Amino acid sequence: MSIVSKPSGSGIEAPKRLDLRAAIGGGIFEYAPAPESVRPEIADKYGLFIGGEFIEPTSIGSSSSHFATINPATEDTLAMVGEASAADVDRAVQAARDALPAWAGLSGKDRGKYMYRIARRMQERARELAVLETLDGGKPIKESRDVDVPLAAAHFFYHAGWADKLRYALPGRDPQPVGVCGQIIPWNFPLMMLSWKIAPALACGNTVVLKPAETTSLTALRFAQICQEVGLPKGVVNIVTGAGETGKAIVEHDGIDKIAFTGSTAVGKAIAQAVASTKKKLTLELGGKSANIIFEDASLDQAIEGIIEGIYFNQGHVCCAGSRLFVQESILDRVIDKLSDRMSTLRVGDPMDKNTDVGAINSKEQLGTIERFLATGEDEGATKHDVCQSTLPEKGYWCKPCFYTGVQPSHTIAREEIFGPVLAVLSFRTPGEAISRANNSPYGLAAGVWTDKGSKIFDVAKKLDAGIIWLNTYNKFDPTSPFGGYKESGFGREGGRHGLMAYCK
Ligand code: NAP
Ligand code: MG
Repeated sequence: MSIVSKPSGSGIEAPKRLDLRAAIGGGIFEYAPAPESVRPEIADKYGLFIGGEFIEPTSIGSSSSHFATINPATEDTLAMVGEASAADVDRAVQAARDALPAWAGLSGKDRGKYMYRIARRMQERARELAVLETLDGGKPIKESRDVDVPLAAAHFFYHAGWADKLRYALPGRDPQPVGVCGQIIPWNFPLMMLSWKIAPALACGNTVVLKPAETTSLTALRFAQICQEVGLPKGVVNIVTGAGETGKAIVEHDGIDKIAFTGSTAVGKAIAQAVASTKKKLTLELGGKSANIIFEDASLDQAIEGIIEGIYFNQGHVCCAGSRLFVQESILDRVIDKLSDRMSTLRVGDPMDKNTDVGAINSKEQLGTIERFLATGEDEGATKHDVCQSTLPEKGYWCKPCFYTGVQPSHTIAREEIFGPVLAVLSFRTPGEAISRANNSPYGLAAGVWTDKGSKIFDVAKKLDAGIIWLNTYNKFDPTSPFGGYKESGFGREGGRHGLMAYCK
């Protein structure tokens, strides 16, 4: 295929712009399927991981003590997962309490050795973990394989290194563990969120009771097996699966010294109220409505990739997604053209196919939420651009990536977190207007700034109310870099030296 027209006659014609949408329609970019070949073992039924063993959950009243976890791309049941009751949470907290003196009493060097073993085991099991993450959660295999699992292992390596150097991390102090940590995580980065929680806790000598999200328990349960495989002392890590009630039982348990929560702002607020009158320490990583700001002097092709990465990869299931795009007025039309071209090539479909860019929506509930926002966007007068050419599979939960123009700052889709592949495009004239519009949000998690001018980068970044700011890039994570929000996006930091403070007293 040629993307320029042939020279004709004596003169050379100007290159013609390739119509990517037409090209896709003609099937030129259709690749043969490239499905991931690794098939991990999945048990029919999983118990709770308490005191180093998998045990049966106790029944809650007459209801079953297991629930199904499904593959959102096919709606097939993958396994039955145990539902922990308050009594099970109590057993887990007791196991963590019993394990605490020995774990906290180990030298930092020995704790580090266990953590290095965990990290290496995660690397050895990387393909299997990536496939499990993709089957259970719906994210494309290239995301779980190239981003989630390597970063999860990197988090353990990084914190293993701190375990015997805490006095250097916090100079002039004598850091002691907080105790038993209750940790509750969401479904968008299951294994990565687990490692953000467990790795710093263990490095600082704490023991943990962790609850994964109801729809994505399988990698946490595989991680429990890794704890067994590396001989981690029993009770140091306990995994209780279940729904919101299980999380509530953790939050309300008297034997817990610290709660670390990542999830929605609504649940975060309820947790803050519940622990307000207790001695529990608390860190909250909550929602976001992050601004991605493109100035007229930015490298546009690079910025377009950043926009795509910021909102469409991972189906927009990213707390720090750049879901509000602010474009300087002089380049608005060009950005919309380029964005449409690039989006027309995005491939939505089988998450196990290595060519897939956008996978399945995590659950039927989440798809319903996204669809309600899409309807509101049009009702409120914004224009929807459906430029993605992929044909959606018949079974499973799917949403085509799209964007809206003609969005006003007061529109629902510009204010509320959608948590789907939906972008609101807004414009601005001056840097001052970009900053005030970007800061006009109850959230303050992340932001992106795209410009060629170093001085503008630092000036704008300083004035944005956001915990993480990416400059000429987006959605890049590193264990050495603290992550966390301002305003309704929560408080406390995870990662880096700052993240250790939440797990020490
Ligand atoms: P969610 O409904 O708040 O759930 C998060 C976790 O809390 C899940 O494990 C959930 O269990 C549990 N939970 C639900 N109700 C609870 C209660 N009353 N007490 C204790 N725990 C409870 O959030 P989500 O919809 O799963 O996740 C999406 C949200 O997470 C988005 O708002 C996103 O922005 C945010 N997030 C933030 C960050 C960050 O670092 N700031 C990172 C990732 C995601 P079930 O799933 O079983 O209901
Ligand atoms: Mg699932």
